[in-house]
Amino acid sequence: MKTIMFDVDGVLAEFILSFTTLGHTLHGTSIYTSHQHRAWDVFDCMTPVQYGEVWKHINNSAEFWRTMPAATSQDVFNEIERIKQQEGNVAYFVTARHGVRAKEQTEAWLRDRGIDNPTVVMTKAKGELAKAVGAHFCIDDKATNAWCVHWFTDGKCKSYLRDYPYNADPTMIGSSHVRRVKTVEEFLEEVERS
Ligand SMILES: [Mg+2]
Repeated sequence: MKTIMFDVDGVLAEFILSFTTLGHTLHGTSIYTSHQHRAWDVFDCMTPVQYGEVWKHINNSAEFWRTMPAATSQDVFNEIERIKQQEGNVAYFVTARHGVRAKEQTEAWLRDRGIDNPTVVMTKAKGELAKAVGAHFCIDDKATNAWCVHWFTDGKCKSYLRDYPYNADPTMIGSSHVRRVKTVEEFLEEVERS
């Protein structure tokens, strides 16, 4: 019996590409992917005003979250669904997304990729949630979230960070308690192995 938490943006969904593509559409700024993004929440290609306008557009959009490209192959979604269907296993898709029907957009996006009846939780409080639901495994792309999951659960939840240049600071507090994986496949293999 395993309870598994999946962050959405930066783990399953290609947020940086979507965000910078929208910036390009609105302001003509550069488009790039998660692998080219250098620092958490720093978008040097945009002015603060442009950045704010991109977020305003997202918050008013009924389809930004709904139409985002995946950050993994379809095989990963199939494997998540297979693990989720095993007796006693529970999967939570946890996100700090906001805006028009963000939860419904996220649920529809997951269903489109074969996740049956996905449980989407809207919160920034990943550590608190991991403790509350008794999570055994968690994957995120935000270093502080990964650390908080470890800390709030006294290490009972194995906390994984999907490795990107923007979260690669090895001096980050608590980094020794977080396991880095290059891919979600690697994370799922560890879940299956345990
Ligand atoms: Mg994320």
